[in-house]
Amino acid sequence: MGDVVVSIDAELAWGYHDLPTAPDRIDHAREGWHATLSLLAKHDVPATWGIVGHLLLDECDGSHEDHPLGPSWFSCSAGRATVDDDWHAPKLVEAVRSSEQDHELASHSFSHVVMDVDGVTRAVADAEIEKSIATAERRGLDFESFIFPRNGIAHRDVLADRAVRCYRGWPPDRWYDESLARPLVKLADWSRLGTAPPIVTPTVDEHGLVNVPASLYLFSFEGPARRVARLLGRSPIVSAAKRGIDEAVGADGVFHLWFHPHNLLQPDGVERLDAVLEHVARRREETDLTVRTMGEVAAGVLGERGAERSAHPPTD
Ligand SMILES: [Zn+2]
Ligand SMILES: [Zn+2]
Repeated sequence: MGDVVVSIDAELAWGYHDLPTAPDRIDHAREGWHATLSLLAKHDVPATWGIVGHLLLDECDGSHEDHPLGPSWFSCSAGRATVDDDWHAPKLVEAVRSSEQDHELASHSFSHVVMDVDGVTRAVADAEIEKSIATAERRGLDFESFIFPRNGIAHRDVLADRAVRCYRGWPPDRWYDESLARPLVKLADWSRLGTAPPIVTPTVDEHGLVNVPASLYLFSFEGPARRVARLLGRSPIVSAAKRGIDEAVGADGVFHLWFHPHNLLQPDGVERLDAVLEHVARRREETDLTVRTMGEVAAGVLGERGAERSAHPPTD
């Protein structure tokens, strides 16, 4: 019996904090959250929302003296927000939490520090993880799953120390990286040959964490790649996602789709997600396909492991 997992990197301005410029659509990123929520509600699909922890704060003075990166990193949010802005968004998070769908709220770090780059020490990683979890707890939320900023997977031991249970890993091969050449090649493969993106198998890593790898980034093909995509077919990424969903039916594995809410602000973004979720809902209705969150998948894997251990007790 296969699963579909949908995970969402929810970050508002934090996703572009370390870059010189942000796309204009970030100014409207809140609309992307609402559009995502309403499409998930329309098709009754629960998702795992990786939330940047700082968004849970009502306001801050920008000092963050107890964070190793200190005021220079956080100056962006200094003096902001007595109401929700691009750096603080408790009401948006509450809208996700109070939705009728049983969404999982997960951590996407505290301030979107990309973990696998030089200079990000264990102390920085620990602050990012600890503060996101502590901030969530003050809101009555329990973050058990983690989505690494920009998929920069590092410091997994810190996750384990902080009682995180699972994370989103890379797909079996890293075709989805944002260089243009590889997606073009893969896209051509999909369109001509009809191959599906990978069905993934969650595994337990050496730290006891469940890795729930990604299958497909729903907005992989933008810019020049997207223009080529138009030549290849009407919406090859939607076709690829549908093939992945179909492959998950009856499979012993997961089709794991991910995106950012602000992706929905791109031309055809809403239509793309709507078409994919509609297919998920239809196949779930017709078959034994299930939709689960990352946390539910991890609980299943860890539960099976526990059951295996008790079925085979040590003999010494
Ligand atoms: Zn702050
Ligand atoms: Zn992110």
